[in-house]
Amino acid sequence: MTASLETKANSGAASAALRVNPYVAALPPYNAGMSLARAQALSGHDDLARLASNENPDGCSPAVLAALASGGFEPWRYADPACTALREALAARLGVDANVIVVGNGSEEMIAAISRGVLVAGAQVVTVVPSFGLHEIEPLAAGASVLKVPMTATAGFDLPALEAAIAVGPRVVFLSSPWNPVGPALNKSALQRLIATVRPGTLFVLDEAYFEYADASLPDGIEVLRNSGIAYVVLRTFSKAYGLAGLRVGYAVCSDLEIARVIASAKTPFNVNGAAQLAAVAALEDEAWMKASVARIVTERDRVAADLAAMGLHAAPSQTNFLFFDTGRDSAEVAAALLQDGIIVKPWREAGYTTWLRATIGKPADNDRLIASLRKQVA
Ligand SMILES: *Cc1c(COP(=O)(O)O)cnc(C)c1O
Repeated sequence: MTASLETKANSGAASAALRVNPYVAALPPYNAGMSLARAQALSGHDDLARLASNENPDGCSPAVLAALASGGFEPWRYADPACTALREALAARLGVDANVIVVGNGSEEMIAAISRGVLVAGAQVVTVVPSFGLHEIEPLAAGASVLKVPMTATAGFDLPALEAAIAVGPRVVFLSSPWNPVGPALNKSALQRLIATVRPGTLFVLDEAYFEYADASLPDGIEVLRNSGIAYVVLRTFSKAYGLAGLRVGYAVCSDLEIARVIASAKTPFNVNGAAQLAAVAALEDEAWMKASVARIVTERDRVAADLAAMGLHAAPSQTNFLFFDTGRDSAEVAAALLQDGIIVKPWREAGYTTWLRATIGKPADNDRLIASLRKQVA
């Protein structure tokens, strides 16, 4: 069966007369990185250091595994399409009305739902470069045009350029802070400056996928935006600090009920499965596990950054669980050499940044392998 499926894939001649959505057909591929099986085959290593996807090397809370093993999850039932229990737990934690929260199949789905619900062909979107791929791909799929504001020479947000781009009045602004793939976060005054530039008619999307890793001195986007008077969405996820990337749960906290309604209408009805809903509630209840994991990773991150700096590789300041640095040559070559030592990282492919590489902070032994392999290449 499998063999015949593989050999019967045809060339697409049957679809020659078919018209497809031109915006979707023209999309650049999302760079999800190399599969584990392919990386194992190419490197000859089974025990790979997986530092490409910003996953949590500590795994997840044991309370999550216990909840999944309990009788609370019934695979034969459709799960609650409104994610009521999870939204109520989040509302209590965040101090917001549960009705302004929309839960997604990962925050990725919320980026897609915002684009589908708010954008139309020809609309303008502002983001940054280097960018989180979906902040560009989902708007392009809706037919929008995307202006990308480059980072500064010191790998920071270019505030004057962002203010100028936002002041023009794009329909949506997508910014991640802390910033994937670069690392820094907007401080409170920078965030307030950008908010002050947002005009009526613009939706300001602040993607806080790495919020839990940021210093306590940095702003909580929900707190800052709450009284801003602008239309906004703050995105958060269980994929990173809570370690649930494989279960797919993220959420949108919206400025008002109407935006939440539009985003909810743009998602698929049964988007978050029952195991994911149960796991996310359990993860949220075990805040102590998440905080201990964040503390370990932040300590490791600063250690790895210092080791990189000692070999002349200066990473961008990071408020996340990864480091982004300029290798000074094609980073795909550096990544290929790292793979030979059993290490997977993400060489950046956006124009202008193809010498940069993003490495997730893993377990100490994996980070040691990364440093030792890079040291061989630099020497
Ligand atoms: C990882 C990441 C996400 C996606 O998270 P999911 O909840 O797993 O879909 C969203 N935004 C940014 C900036 C990320 O780095």
